[in-house]
Amino acid sequence: MKVAVIGSGVAGLATAIRVAARGDIVTLFEKNGTPGGKISQIRDKGYRFDTGPSLFTLPNLVDELLSMNLNSDIQTSLSGKNSFNYFRLENSCRYFYPDGTVFDFFQNTQKLREQIENNTDENFENILKRLNQSEFIYNLTSDLFIFNSFHRFSNFLKEENRSIPLHLHKLGFHRTMHSANKSLFKDKRIVQLFDRYATYNGSSPYKAPATLNMISHLEHNIGAFFPEKGIYSIADSLYKKGVELGVNFEFNSLVTEVIVEKFKGTREKKNEIYSGENYNDNSGDENTSNFGKPWRGKRAVGVRVNGVSKYFDYVVCDTDVSYAAENMFNGRYRHPLKKRLSKLEPSSSALIFYWGIKGEFNRLDIHNILFTSNYKEEFDYLFKKRELYSDPTVYIFISKKVVAGDAPDGCENWFVMVNAPYNKGQDWQAVIANARKAIIQKIDKTFNIKIEDYIDVEHIASPVTIERNTLSSKGALYGSSSNSMFSAFLRHPNTLNKIKNLSFTGGSTHPGGGIPLCLASAIIAEKEIYKL
Ligand SMILES: Cc1cc2nc3c(=O)[nH]c(=O)nc-3n(C[C@H](O)[C@H](O)[C@H](O)COP(=O)(O)OP(=O)(O)OC[C@H]3O[C@@H](n4cnc5c(N)ncnc54)[C@H](O)[C@@H]3O)c2cc1C
Repeated sequence: MKVAVIGSGVAGLATAIRVAARGDIVTLFEKNGTPGGKISQIRDKGYRFDTGPSLFTLPNLVDELLSMNLNSDIQTSLSGKNSFNYFRLENSCRYFYPDGTVFDFFQNTQKLREQIENNTDENFENILKRLNQSEFIYNLTSDLFIFNSFHRFSNFLKEENRSIPLHLHKLGFHRTMHSANKSLFKDKRIVQLFDRYATYNGSSPYKAPATLNMISHLEHNIGAFFPEKGIYSIADSLYKKGVELGVNFEFNSLVTEVIVEKFKGTREKKNEIYSGENYNDNSGDENTSNFGKPWRGKRAVGVRVNGVSKYFDYVVCDTDVSYAAENMFNGRYRHPLKKRLSKLEPSSSALIFYWGIKGEFNRLDIHNILFTSNYKEEFDYLFKKRELYSDPTVYIFISKKVVAGDAPDGCENWFVMVNAPYNKGQDWQAVIANARKAIIQKIDKTFNIKIEDYIDVEHIASPVTIERNTLSSKGALYGSSSNSMFSAFLRHPNTLNKIKNLSFTGGSTHPGGGIPLCLASAIIAEKEIYKL
């Protein structure tokens, strides 16, 4: 079988590996000159910056891909050279509050207990309770919500998922993350800390369902990890694995159309792709009949790249689904969910300053949060006014703390990020200038320094550049937001009933954004392609 994958984001790379490891022929088309999509890097004057993700969870999903081998005995010259190592961080994040409170969220329970008891008014048992609840929800729902298509009824009927309805009241669909956190924790600082997990998929804790509190399980119970060579090495290692397995990478290749044709034929075996003859009359009804019976419908048969039509048996889109629906189904047949997608609220985006800093700051760790004094107001600005709040929560990520080569001696590579609204044509130059001022003010006040004097190198990413570089609609980081109890159901499915031989992967489709969920979408794509 010949499979086309569009996009070399982490999910596209993972899908290509999975298909190639089965011995099928894969061509991956990427509009950029390098692989990775949102996982990218900048090198300048001895500094290296990971430009997108910084937190790495569920590393076993990457291990699994890197351990895959061809069904056949073929080995290539790259075999064995693809070393990818990572380690568990001792401290998942250092938190700084406007009232001067500072503490580390250690992964070791005893050390975490000391931090919480010495620095906050929270009862540590409540934190353990939340982490246990998160684990319970994750274990109960991950098979259905994360590792399988949410839009196949048969998955709801699986043995392991039958008990979910019995526990519906514990899943938290009926209330927001904030209301669940507020009712469990008495210290506002801890409420704010757990509310922050909503931003891991670009949502507001005041709107997202409490089910998403399970994110804390990934970071604290399973662990926050970091690759020895930085985040970009995840994409680089997956790319090398793809090359080793024979994936044909075509860079600088923008796919302008997924070619869809009508056909009639039969779907004979469970694992057979939809085969038959193309036909162009418009008379037949489309139906998904049982195996062996006649089937009429539409299917993806190829892609149009650089003005040339290329034909495949199966197409996988690792592109933002809104972008795809708007721009890549403009041939004879439209994307059937185009209208619905245009109504979904995009997730938040980000403004990021990559600063090469001439100096070393021991008060900062690898991941640091400088909280705003009014979280509710900050999210209202992001999701109601679509503006940046004047006192934003600032995230500072410094990989040099654990990867010595990421900045020159005596220097640090600061990734300084604030959440930003999605791009709806704001005056970004003005927004960036104001944000830069507000961030500098906050850093100066927190650490009693003049950070501007230390900035040696500066690069900036905004919703506009994120949109341009990765074709993410409106620069949203995670596709649509999860700002309602129905979001999981409204998120774009992994396949379409109306167009066969086509799957969707990546952060804008089910199960959602973030490296682990994108890798899960590739697992789902494999199940869909091979009808597993
Ligand atoms: C600033 C930032 C911070 C983040 N922080 C974290 C974090 O800490 N932890 C975490 O787990 N996740 C984080 N994420 C989210 C994570 O990076 C993404 O969810 C994930 O990398 C998306 O992967 P993807 O497979 O959806 O593809 P993307 O990375 O979106 O890549 C899609 C690729 O497809 C290509 N493409 C699109 N359309 C076409 C076309 N028509 N033809 C050819 N090529 C095309 C694009 O050029 C791009 O390379 C962050 C993201 C950003 C931007």
